[in-house]
Amino acid sequence: MSAAELLVRGATILDADGPLRVADIRASEGTITEVGPGLRPGSARVIDADGMVAMPGLINAHTHSSQNLDRGTTPNLPLDLWLMWAVFGKPPISADDRYTLAMAGALEMLESGCTAVLDHGWVPPWDFENYSEAVMSAYADAGMRAGLAPMIGDLDIFDTMSFAGASQPKPAPLGDPFDPQGLVESMDGFFDRWHRRHRRLVPMVGPSAPQRCSHELMEGLAGLARRRGAGFHTHVLETKTQIAANLERYGRSSVSYLEDLGVLRAGTSLAHCVWMDPDEYAAVRRCGATIVHNPVSNLRCGSGILPVADLLEGGVSVALGADGAASNDNQNMFEAMKFATLLQTLHGSHRRWPQAPAIWQMGLRGGAAALGRPLGSLQPGSAADIVLLDTERHVPMHAEGLITSLVLAEHGESVHTVIVDGEVMVCEGRSTRVDEAAMNARSLDLQRRLHENLPERQAFYDRYVGVLTEIHDYETAQPTPVQRLAQITPAFGPAD
Ligand SMILES: [Zn+2]
Repeated sequence: MSAAELLVRGATILDADGPLRVADIRASEGTITEVGPGLRPGSARVIDADGMVAMPGLINAHTHSSQNLDRGTTPNLPLDLWLMWAVFGKPPISADDRYTLAMAGALEMLESGCTAVLDHGWVPPWDFENYSEAVMSAYADAGMRAGLAPMIGDLDIFDTMSFAGASQPKPAPLGDPFDPQGLVESMDGFFDRWHRRHRRLVPMVGPSAPQRCSHELMEGLAGLARRRGAGFHTHVLETKTQIAANLERYGRSSVSYLEDLGVLRAGTSLAHCVWMDPDEYAAVRRCGATIVHNPVSNLRCGSGILPVADLLEGGVSVALGADGAASNDNQNMFEAMKFATLLQTLHGSHRRWPQAPAIWQMGLRGGAAALGRPLGSLQPGSAADIVLLDTERHVPMHAEGLITSLVLAEHGESVHTVIVDGEVMVCEGRSTRVDEAAMNARSLDLQRRLHENLPERQAFYDRYVGVLTEIHDYETAQPTPVQRLAQITPAFGPAD
């Protein structure tokens, strides 16, 4: 159900390309139908936006809601080591806890101006139905637009990396392997339950990464995405170590593997893609897939720098993600845009640094491509996902200046009203639908329980840090056709 008719009156319109102007926005059945001055309200609910800026809702095109309360739990570490803290050794959680996790992120995103998310959230395979229902219910209750691509893999973690550089033998598996057929059937059931069930929620297909899945599972999920006409989302070449891992598993790069599987296409989004070579970026462009850049996570794990200027100039679709809170610590898309803008000053001539307006478009147009929906714009025909900002902190003189101010100086504190699918989900910065005090109490309780076993997680990490460091150091030193790490001369010469 969406609000039948809505009229936002007298806002300063900050849209894709045009100049700033004061106008009204009319939305009907969740879609923007008209933008212009002096629109007649008729029977519409009127929102007085005098003195406010109306912008399209931001889009978080890659995160893991399962990590939403992991903020502050994980040291800065390379991904393969980070995984031991962030993914393994965590205490079990209930489906109710999984709801709390998704809700905590949904509220954080909505109240900081993000109206849509592509959630690559982990869902326990042993109770897929209950836990996936919990996540979708949280988004439904919060009023957020979401694509849930449950993150799936069937291989043991130590079978997902190359041990070429390890002096120690591969450790024993951390658990029993998952049956790929059973996982595909669970996903099929998820699609049966959620296909066209809710206006704002869509099921998507989300293998964790090619090197983390058997060929049988990848084929099964690719076939499912084809049959269902579904969006497909996966991590690709986030770190340098994954180049060797993919070569060992599939005898070629993950990009050509995905192309052969038939999933490199519009509607597919690939998280990270830091370590692709020029041919691989060209394949992504040719097939119309979208790359999702996660600047904070890339910095947190030292994964490398995505060459954003090259991609944008080359016409590749690029979206923005926060990534999970275990490698970011928040879900703030204004902050993600700021980091994306600043990170690029480490790469190439200043003449080609993408400025804030280009990054802004990644958070809107790129995100819309990743979710395959008409989002990220205030034009008629777009979804009525609108954020109204109090402009006290920003001077709306012209669009470019306002966008730059928002990207570099805003954290969501100016967000006043958030409309999703034509319905007001946030008013005066607070959810209109959720008892936030009760939710915060649930979040704090869960956060405490997650923190309680940090000593066990540390012990778990300590058991594997040696061999994983060897692998990381070895692969990082290998010559590759591309370089994505900043090279900085040490402060002092070698010790003498
Ligand atoms: Zn991720």
